[in-house]
Amino acid sequence: MSVLLFVSAPVEVVQSTTETSAQDSEDGVGVAIDNEGGIREQLAKIGGNLPPVMYVLIQEFITWLTGKPYWGQQPLLKVGRIYQLIAALLSLFSGITASFIILQSSPFFFPLLIFSWAYTVGGARKIQATICHRCVHYEFFGDYRDKWLAEVLSTMLIVQDFAGYYHDHIKLHHHVKKFASFEHDPDAQFLYLLGFRPGSES
Ligand SMILES: [Zn+2]
Repeated sequence: MSVLLFVSAPVEVVQSTTETSAQDSEDGVGVAIDNEGGIREQLAKIGGNLPPVMYVLIQEFITWLTGKPYWGQQPLLKVGRIYQLIAALLSLFSGITASFIILQSSPFFFPLLIFSWAYTVGGARKIQATICHRCVHYEFFGDYRDKWLAEVLSTMLIVQDFAGYYHDHIKLHHHVKKFASFEHDPDAQFLYLLGFRPGSES
C-alpha cells in the first residue's frame, strides 16, 4: 500500500512504505490507497509553477468547485458548527428573498432565478444532510439541544422529523449488523437505486 505525502506546492506524490501507519488506521485503510493518479491529485498540479499564494488560491477554488480537497490539503480557515449553521440559514433565506425580489421585477430578470434557487436548495440541503445529520448523531451540541434543533430545522424544511430520521439513520443505516447491507440499510439501498455500485472506479 502506498502512503502519499503532499509537501508543498506543487503537489508531490511519494511512495514511502508498504506498512499500515497509525494515520491509515485512524482514517480507515483505503483512504490512502489509490490516491496516486486520482483526479483531484491531477488537478493539484494546476498552478504549481505560480507563486505559492496564487497556487493556494487556485487550489482553494478547485476544492470549493469540486467539493474535494487533494490528499493532505489543509483548509485556509477553520470554521465551527455555528458558522456552518448560520451559513446554511443565510443561503436558504437569502435565496428565498432573492427569488421573491426577482419575481416582483421584470421577466427580463427571471433567468437569475437559477442562482437564487441554487442558494435556496443548497442551504436546505446543507441543513438536512449536514446539520440535521449531526443532530441525530448527537454531535452538533452534543446534548438534548440537538433534538430540538433538528425538530425546528426539519419542520422548517418539511422533511423527516428527528424521531423518524433517528430510526432510519441510527437504528437501521448505522446499525453495526446492518451498515451498508442491501437487506437492511435503507441508505445503501437508495444509493444502489441511484446507480452507485460497489467497486465502481468513479
Ligand atoms: Zn450518520
